[in-house]
Order: sequence, then structure tokens, then C-alpha cells
Amino acid sequence: MIEIRGLTKSFQGHTVLNGIDLTIQQGDVVAVIGSSGAGKSTLLRSINLLEPADAGTIAMDELMVDISKRSRSETLELRKSTAMVFQQFNLFRQKTALENVMEGLVVVKKMPKDEARKIAAWQLSRVGLSDRVHHYPKQLSGGQQQRVAIARALAMEPKLLLFDEPTSALDPELAGEVLDTIRQTAVEGNTMLLVSHEMDFVRKVATRVLFLDKGIIVEDGTPQEVFAHPKSDRTKQFLANYY
Ligand code: ATP
Ligand code: MG
Repeated sequence: MIEIRGLTKSFQGHTVLNGIDLTIQQGDVVAVIGSSGAGKSTLLRSINLLEPADAGTIAMDELMVDISKRSRSETLELRKSTAMVFQQFNLFRQKTALENVMEGLVVVKKMPKDEARKIAAWQLSRVGLSDRVHHYPKQLSGGQQQRVAIARALAMEPKLLLFDEPTSALDPELAGEVLDTIRQTAVEGNTMLLVSHEMDFVRKVATRVLFLDKGIIVEDGTPQEVFAHPKSDRTKQFLANYY
């Protein structure tokens, strides 16, 4: 179980996360929706400490981190417990697909290279890239690059997978193949927090949907509840722009 309490973040006096409380059960696929600037990326980035919040606590199983008072070892432990997939893939350009997936295993998990290579090859096969392991990012399509990024995240066996608009840089056909891979990842029981504007995908894959508005979770329910019976006017307004 993942428990986030009182997550607060401001940029230059402007509050972006306003005391977020969020509990995620193992196997949950939680989609975060909301307008541009609502704080969706900041929420994900503060959970893996890429952009540490000003205050709040994050607990994952036995690990409990107070953001403002954390030790270096807690920081590393929390980072190891999460893995993020970004809109722009963020692969190492000078490394092959295989080396990209191996990197975290060797550097962060201190795994022997032979073992890391085997796991990386296995994860790449699971995302349908067995025939692309020795390709460099520039030799891969956007969709293939994003699937390498997903394999890289899965290889770390994180407690929580974070996806920040993983398909918005892709044209629809390539987005479809990446969404299929994410759907498969969800079906396998991975715990996921996903920002997406693909409402059909959210509806089908998420177990739970949050609507974030001005740094506050104003809606939290099943896709059915949030899409068919939104409680707040802001959610209704937002959804009206999609349908
Ligand atoms: P989008 O849908 O456009 O990706 P978002 O919901 O992900 O939006 P965030 O990126 O979390 O929104 O940004 C929330 C607010 O915080 C915005 O007003 C943004 O300008 C501001 N912000 C985010 N990062 C920084 C930063 N590093 N420095 C200053 N302001 C920032
Ligand atoms: Mg964003």
C-alpha cells in the first residue's frame, strides 16, 4: 500500500499541490486527469522526489518518508521503489535498447552485468522488442522508444510505476501500440499512477480516476463514477470538453 499525506508544493509563492492525501492499494491503476497546469506532473515528480515537495509524507510498505526531513538513504530507497515513464521517453541516446534497460539494474541495483543483460532482454521481449535490442534510440520509432522506456521501468520491479502522458508525443498509431503495452502492464497487476488525456484508455484500464484541479483532488472514484456521475462542476466542465 502507498500512502501520501499532506503533499504540498509551491513555486514562487504559487501553490501547485495543496495538501494532497492519496492512498493507493497494491494493483490499483490510478489515472490522474485534469487541465493543463493542474499539478499532475508535479504530483508524479514529487512522489519520486524528482521535484521534492515542500511538505508531506510518503509511505510505501515499511518505508515512511517525511519529505522535509528525509535522509539520503530514504531518498534513495523511495526512488528505487518507483519508476517513471516520461512523455519524451528520456532514453540515453548513446546506449542501445538493451543497455538502456540494463542501466538502472547495474548502477542502482548493483546487479552483475550478465544477470542485468538477461533481465533486460526478457523485459524487451515482453514489450515486443526482441528484434530491436541492439538498436540505438534514433534507430527506433517513437512508439518503440517508449516501449524501451516501459521495459526499463518494469525491469526495476518498482512498487509504483509512474506514467506522465506516455503517449502524447506520439501519433495515434504509435500511441495505440504503447497503450496496448501499458494495458498489458496493468493486467499483470502492477501498481500504477498514470497521467493521461486518453479518456477512452483511462475508462478501460484505470481502476480509479482522480480529477486534479488547482492542486486539489476534487474527484476520486471508479471510471464509471467519475465519467458518468461527476460530483463537482469543475469535473463536469472538464469532461464536457472531451465529449
Ligand atoms: P500539463 O497538463 O500541461 O502537463 P500539469 O497538470 O502537469 O499540466 P504541472 O506541470 O504540474 O501541471 O504544473 C503545475 C503548475 O506549476 C503550472 O502552473 C506550472 O507552470 C508550475 N510549475 C511546474 N514546474 C515548475 C517549475 N519547475 N518552476 C516553476 N513553476 C513550475
Ligand atoms: Mg504535465
